Amino acid sequence: MEDLLKVEDLRTYFFTEAGVVKAVDGISLDVRKGESHGLVGESGSGKSVTALSVMRIVPKPGKIVGGKISFDGTDLLTLKEDDMRRVRGSKIAMVFQDPISSLDPLYTVGKQLIEAIRANNETVSKEQARDMAISLLSNVEISEPERRFNQYPHELSGGMKQRIAIARALARTPTLLFADEPTTNLDVTIQAQVLNLMKDLKKNFNMTLVLITHDMGIIAEMTSRVTVVYAGQVSESAETHTLFYHPTHPYTEALLKAVPRLDKRKQLQSVGGNIPNLIDPPTGCRFHPRCPYAIQICKEKVPDYEEVETDHFVACHRWKELSLVGVQ
Ligand code: SF4
Repeated sequence: MEDLLKVEDLRTYFFTEAGVVKAVDGISLDVRKGESHGLVGESGSGKSVTALSVMRIVPKPGKIVGGKISFDGTDLLTLKEDDMRRVRGSKIAMVFQDPISSLDPLYTVGKQLIEAIRANNETVSKEQARDMAISLLSNVEISEPERRFNQYPHELSGGMKQRIAIARALARTPTLLFADEPTTNLDVTIQAQVLNLMKDLKKNFNMTLVLITHDMGIIAEMTSRVTVVYAGQVSESAETHTLFYHPTHPYTEALLKAVPRLDKRKQLQSVGGNIPNLIDPPTGCRFHPRCPYAIQICKEKVPDYEEVETDHFVACHRWKELSLVGVQ
């Protein structure tokens, strides 16, 4: 499969009074046309900032300071802001964890959908846009779409708001959709419904999906390839089933141990310790203060990003000698 998005050595820093926070510090990522790609790691690892960098909507005091982002052959970092706005309006969309941030409380659902549809295609009349909006509401499985069309966001439940936010993203008929923790704020039953909906929509709308999450269960359920991010850098990437059954990075192993399993009565283990301070990250391998396998070299030298096998890469000095435990 062809690459749709290629991120190379991306660096996005936040210039705060306390110092420079290296939120993304050399992340590379390949997303292929039509795939569901997972971006996984604990919160604060740089996943969301990577997506915001691709969209070029990093909030201040953040700034992209290095790297290359190529989308469908276009270099996004050299595009003029007007051209980039067009890319955001019609090719790349994003659904956020908190749907409130993508919906305007002052406007009805219908008005917001119509605006998104017409931003993507100015030739669409208001009447056509209205019909398209109602049909989008049906696509995201909103009951009584005509009634919802005239309601305001505060009149809807959390699950419904997230469906509307998804509909709004789809109104732009994007080629690439970033979904950033889209179900984290929803209760478990609604989570499953929204994830199933996203799966169906991805297929029906022929989109490429980048799903950002801290939840390995969602990665297993939803994605075919995955990139694991730790402290602003990539620690491992592989096809999802390979990553689950043959992890080669201790951080991946730790994330897998933290996944609840209905069929196992094993004690859940959390990843011990905290994500490091990204103003002054640990030397060598950034995971070394938390890694049970760390040795001297890990503190001194940054590990290379090496190929384990086709489509499987890892950044760990000891991957050849460790026998890590995946899903059993
Ligand atoms: Fe652990 Fe060392 Fe590998 Fe880092 S390089 S993950 S500290 S074994």
